[in-house]
Amino acid sequence: MCTVGLGMGRIAGPAAGAASTMGERIPSVSSMHDRPADVLNISDNSLAGLLDAAHEPILVRDLEGRILFWNQGCEALYGHGREAARGAYAPRLLATVFPAPLEEITARLLAEGRWEGEVRRRLADGREAVIALRWSLGRDASDAAWVLETGRDVTEARSAEEALRRSEYRFRNVFHAMSVSFWELDFSALAGMFGALRARGVTSLRAHIAENPGFVREMMRASQVVDVNDKSLQLFEATREQLLGPVDRFWPPCSEHVFAASVIAALEKRPHYESEARFRTYGGREFDGLFTCCYPREYLPQGATLVGVIDITDRLRAQEDLQRVQAELAHAARISTLGELTASIAHEVNQPLSAIVTNGEAGLRWLRRQTPDLDEVVRAFDRMIGEANRASGVIGRIRTMAVKGEPETARLALGPLVEDSVLLVRRELTVHDVALRVQVPADLPEVLGDRVQLQQVLVNLMVNAAQAMAGAEERVLAVRAEAQGEGVALSVTDTGPGVPPERLARLFDAFYTTKAGGMGMGLSICRTIVQAHGGEIVAISEPGQGASFVLKLPRAEPAQEADC
Ligand code: ADP
Repeated sequence: MCTVGLGMGRIAGPAAGAASTMGERIPSVSSMHDRPADVLNISDNSLAGLLDAAHEPILVRDLEGRILFWNQGCEALYGHGREAARGAYAPRLLATVFPAPLEEITARLLAEGRWEGEVRRRLADGREAVIALRWSLGRDASDAAWVLETGRDVTEARSAEEALRRSEYRFRNVFHAMSVSFWELDFSALAGMFGALRARGVTSLRAHIAENPGFVREMMRASQVVDVNDKSLQLFEATREQLLGPVDRFWPPCSEHVFAASVIAALEKRPHYESEARFRTYGGREFDGLFTCCYPREYLPQGATLVGVIDITDRLRAQEDLQRVQAELAHAARISTLGELTASIAHEVNQPLSAIVTNGEAGLRWLRRQTPDLDEVVRAFDRMIGEANRASGVIGRIRTMAVKGEPETARLALGPLVEDSVLLVRRELTVHDVALRVQVPADLPEVLGDRVQLQQVLVNLMVNAAQAMAGAEERVLAVRAEAQGEGVALSVTDTGPGVPPERLARLFDAFYTTKAGGMGMGLSICRTIVQAHGGEIVAISEPGQGASFVLKLPRAEPAQEADC
């Protein structure tokens, strides 16, 4: 048994045997395998001094683990001072957890003279560290074995590796187990194609594609599918082997612009790109998908990217069904509003009709005179034509409201929109003795929308206002429009009783009504229409101060060039 004194008196190994006193001595590194342990003295030997000063943690212990030498590197790494370490039992002091039973490791060390491995150790401050160890076996003159250990703190490297491993594991799991079709694409060949374009003086891919649409297909053919997840096999109705290869087989011509835009997004260093697109299965069936593409910075230089495709056929079908039902409901509501306006409409049509009759009679009278006054006859005819046009205008407006047409989106100026709506309710307002004030500046920005639907909203709000003011002393209806931020605000304000605060929130609920014969669908449909236009509608009312319904609609953007 090796017993070594290190300025602490004599320390016997666990199985203390013949003790030899060596003072402050450790074995020489150069003599590990062939020289006795007492050749170096820590205080007076320069090699021992050098080992002590080394940054690397170096310790020497006997075979059982008693620490004989503990340099400054050990102090720095483990946090235990030299005094505490010397003579301590290393595995216990450092709570070492070995990768295999210590007996096995010691057996290998004895057989091969060295051992390398990673252990977990507890530092003086309680933290755990992963240490990469190298052990070398030496023997002193009395053939007692000792071990020189160098250590390296690899905690950070290991936790970074672990984090990477976990993230790769997560990624693989997500890649394969998600109900999204994932594709790993290799588009490195595109770099060569872009290089060739640059050499020909092409600076904008967008412009090049606009002039040479066939280039998109070329890019598709050059982009390769290198891996797919299980969901992709199901969605694209193919085996993995069938899916690998050029990507163009899965992109019908109508989706070329999406592929081009995704490549441009990558070139513009955007982090991701998303769009709806049409896809084609291996067998040729087409379906609607949501295409997402992300461009991780680490992947891009290798020409790799990850794309996801989600089948949205059902979602689009549900959306279409919803839009159809909403349109039908809006139409039914328009018919019902027209029903409410029957008396006004009859009056609007009747007025020009009676004017036509009056003018016709007058014309006849001028004709039947002994000397017919043809100038008067012409004037009467002109008036008749004017009145007939007025009647036909009223009927035209009613027809557009009554006809069940597809919603049409167009740029609309608010002035004419308000005017047309007012014409439909004018008589209703007169009957209820309502004074109308309209303030729509001519220079308001246009909005994008369906004329009939927006007119329906205004008519609905004005009819509601007129009805609400039925018992009010002062009956004023104000329709105002103004530019507001990025949009236009249109308000319909009355001087009726207003809406109690507790009812305000329910006004837009379907079937909410306080009227005896009311259906309670008007405001709910108004909100659906306004939201479908990207806007919002709110009701504001101070008790006793009337009610105000404010529509905010986004302004129509100036016409834009196509993306690519
Ligand atoms: P309906 O007119 O069939 O009742 P609406 O959805 O158009 O359906 O209106 C719902 C309810 O909102 C009305 O019954 C009424 O109580 C309230 N309301 C609507 N507009 C006004 C208004 N200008 N002033 C006060 N209450 C209103």
